[in-house]
Amino acid sequence: MLEQVPVPCVRFNVQMRWDGLPTDQPARRPARFEVPDLHICRACERPFVVPQSVLDVTGQDEYLMELRCNNCGTVVVGTHGEEVLEALDRELDRQSADMAAALELWQVTRQIEEIDAFAHALQAGHILPEDF
Ligand SMILES: [Zn+2]
Repeated sequence: MLEQVPVPCVRFNVQMRWDGLPTDQPARRPARFEVPDLHICRACERPFVVPQSVLDVTGQDEYLMELRCNNCGTVVVGTHGEEVLEALDRELDRQSADMAAALELWQVTRQIEEIDAFAHALQAGHILPEDF
């Protein structure tokens, strides 16, 4: 059984400052760090990161998300666009499909092993009519 350890939640707000030529945009604006592979944990580098909760809607199609690694428990809070989050969702769907296929393969393998064991027991005379 896995032990649930509370993980401290770290929030951060990064601001970038542009010291170049004046533009129509404000001098300070929030930085955007889009990580294409959100499913890869930054701490243990394993592909077990899942969305934990939506903390806030920070803009049009932008969300402050809490992502948690199911392998090491690392929690990362960050703002991500809908496109990146949809890519994470597709990756999680792909992983679920892979797990379902692996489970099906394991079940078929187990059934074949049971059939082989039954056939060997039958041939060796270990199974008698009164067993049924
Ligand atoms: Zn991890």
